[in-house]
Amino acid sequence: MALTVDLVPCLSDNYAYLLHDAADGLCAVVDPSEPEPVRRALAARGLRLTHILNTHHHFDHTGGNIPLKQEFGAVIVGPAKDRARIPGIDVGVDESAPWQFGPHTARILEIPAHTRAHIAFAFEDENIVFTGDTLFAMGCGRLFEGTPQMMWTSLSKLMRLADDMRVYCGHEYTLSNGRFALTVEPNNADLRARMKEVQALRAQSQPTIPSTLGLEKKTNPFLRPDSPEIRKTLAMEDADTVAVFGELRRRKDAF
Ligand code: ZN
Ligand code: FE
Repeated sequence: MALTVDLVPCLSDNYAYLLHDAADGLCAVVDPSEPEPVRRALAARGLRLTHILNTHHHFDHTGGNIPLKQEFGAVIVGPAKDRARIPGIDVGVDESAPWQFGPHTARILEIPAHTRAHIAFAFEDENIVFTGDTLFAMGCGRLFEGTPQMMWTSLSKLMRLADDMRVYCGHEYTLSNGRFALTVEPNNADLRARMKEVQALRAQSQPTIPSTLGLEKKTNPFLRPDSPEIRKTLAMEDADTVAVFGELRRRKDAF
């Protein structure tokens, strides 16, 4: 049976996601920022929560953990290397073994830099990956606990997944990410076309999520530090990949 993903907008610009399969009665929420929107989304679909998955410890991704665990008895799954900072964690996971969601297998990718123990859950048979605050639509997370080299290694790990993986990230930052992308790669035709679509969606308050990994590779500047146009814009034609990546991140921080 197929997994269904439902977006649950939380706080001002977070997304939690319901992940469920009618056949086996399992229902997970990924990165619940707060309990109430998750409760409402479950009730509207007649679902009972069985699992809570966290990509990292930040409060806007774990704020719903304890209330939802108390209410539903849900099992909390998060990065093993960050047990002390994941509220209510029951199961710690890392990339040494997949995590099994009933019949569905999630490969765990350790993708540190936004936080030192950030993980992604990749359901490769279903082409679904939850990237938290590491890979955004046309952007990447801030380097709170890591270096440009660490983030580039993490993003490179995600880039080795299949191009048709659907990317579900932690925030609706797409429009501002795209505006930044256009400043460094204004002649990227794929980027320009995508921005028109994103602007139309956001004008109607529609989500821009999910994207696909293939589309990110064509339009996300943080996956494109080897683009000749980006290098020319930054006057870094001969710099190494990580140096260009680091400069992109610095410019986005100040954008
Ligand atoms: Zn975060
Ligand atoms: Fe966040």
